[in-house]
Amino acid sequence: MTISQNVARQLIDGSFTTGGGLVDEVFDPATGEVLAHVAHSTARDVDAAVVAAAAAQPAWAETPVPERAELMFRYKALLEDHAEELALLVVAENGKTLGEARGEVRRGIEVVALACGAPTLLLGGAIDQIARGIDEEMVRFPVGVVAGICPFNFPMMVPLWMLPLALVAGNTFVLKPSPRTPLSAVREIELLVEAGAPSGVINLVHGDREPVEALLAHPGVDAVSFVGSASVARHVYATAASTGKRVQALGGAKNHLIVMDDADLSQTVPAVIGSAFGNAGQRCLAGSVVVAVGSAGDRLVNELRDAASALRQGRGTDPTAQLGPVIRAQRVTELADAIAGGEKAGADLVLDGRERLRDEGYFLGATLFDHVTEEMSVWRDELFGPILSVVRADNLDEALGHLNASRYGNAASIFTRSGAAARTFKRQAEAGMLGVNVGVAAPMSFFPFCGWKESFFGDLHATGADGIRFYTRTKVVTSRWFDTELDADAPEGRGH
Ligand code: NAD
Repeated sequence: MTISQNVARQLIDGSFTTGGGLVDEVFDPATGEVLAHVAHSTARDVDAAVVAAAAAQPAWAETPVPERAELMFRYKALLEDHAEELALLVVAENGKTLGEARGEVRRGIEVVALACGAPTLLLGGAIDQIARGIDEEMVRFPVGVVAGICPFNFPMMVPLWMLPLALVAGNTFVLKPSPRTPLSAVREIELLVEAGAPSGVINLVHGDREPVEALLAHPGVDAVSFVGSASVARHVYATAASTGKRVQALGGAKNHLIVMDDADLSQTVPAVIGSAFGNAGQRCLAGSVVVAVGSAGDRLVNELRDAASALRQGRGTDPTAQLGPVIRAQRVTELADAIAGGEKAGADLVLDGRERLRDEGYFLGATLFDHVTEEMSVWRDELFGPILSVVRADNLDEALGHLNASRYGNAASIFTRSGAAARTFKRQAEAGMLGVNVGVAAPMSFFPFCGWKESFFGDLHATGADGIRFYTRTKVVTSRWFDTELDADAPEGRGH
């Protein structure tokens, strides 16, 4: 596609400008060509964005809730009108297939749809006569200025996990997308401005670590929503919390898919393949370890190998493409090193993606390891690429032992025909998003995106009721009214 943005711009107080920092290249991962550039924002730009957000916040908080919701109705209509353009932009800068990108845009719009219900979502509560002559009510207020820091892998959807709910709750926002995929964020923010977001209510800055540090240190930022790798999530959580900010920091993952020996392999194999190799394995919900239970193992591995080796690599706009590139050339090298490491550690390399490197673009073929054990990096570490490890287990208890030994706890799935096995899994798996015969257990926007362990640092997750609670502060008002005149007329009390 033709990219209209030569240099991705920042948005500060209603004006799109070019950031004052270094200018970085934005690549098309399918070709390695430069698509556009992004001018990083300086600490001064970040300060201006926060100051603008803080200045705009009181008036935005005074805007009636149904009017804030109206902004979301208009925004949703614009996103729907531009859905295909947005999906193509995701393909261009992220490399995923068009089908995956369309799905991403759709999941983002779902959160905007949720935010359209702001008057219901923001309802408080009240009770008459909580004590004699006393009433009590709970009311939600905005937190203030929210900073949103996003990863490259869902450049359109992840900002939409944050923005719509934060804005309808009366907060103003400073968004910082990944420098590797800034174009999607620029376009979705342009549409939000077109929908009528007032100046300063939404601001956009670019760059990598420096603007993040500036946001974390800024006294004008009240809350931080972060999505990215676990090590950065931990850092963001600790740093922002140390200055009294509210934080939700979503981190990395190593999701286990347990395949019981009674599973229907004709359904299970495509689900596992989609989970492990969809988005080239660059999903925080990607299945990256299969635990094959009992006699299922050999047949499962054979079928996985056949299906994975049949995946067609290609550019996202090619309708036959099933496996896109990873985000950067350096990732191909790192993933190739991880494959070499797995082999060296003694895992059986059943399918070697290094055989399908290409001269053009950042492609790596689907890779499958068998007989992986917990000492190996390919079991332990998030690789974030098209590499799937199979661990063997004798029974469900042993399989759950592997799953629960991971330091991550984002998602996990079981494939089985047994209700009893599924129930044990639901109760004992130490992960926050579970699938039963589902490969990618992604909650819809009405539910929280609730990783556990090192997949999440904080208390309130993104989206759903948690999202609203994160972006609001509650007040409880206890009221007693003295009405001496009325009391004088009713010596035995009123209203009973
Ligand atoms: P990343 O951690 O490298 O970057 C995330 C954001 O942090 C970016 O905006 C980046 O500019 C910034 N950043 C990077 N290094 C930093 C540092 N040292 N200090 C301050 N800021 C820094 O993540 P990524 O590679 O863009 O995204 C992939 C990761 O995100 C994977 O680990 C994936 O599992 C995770 N992810 C998690 C979820 C979830 O819901 N848990 C969702 C999507 C992605």
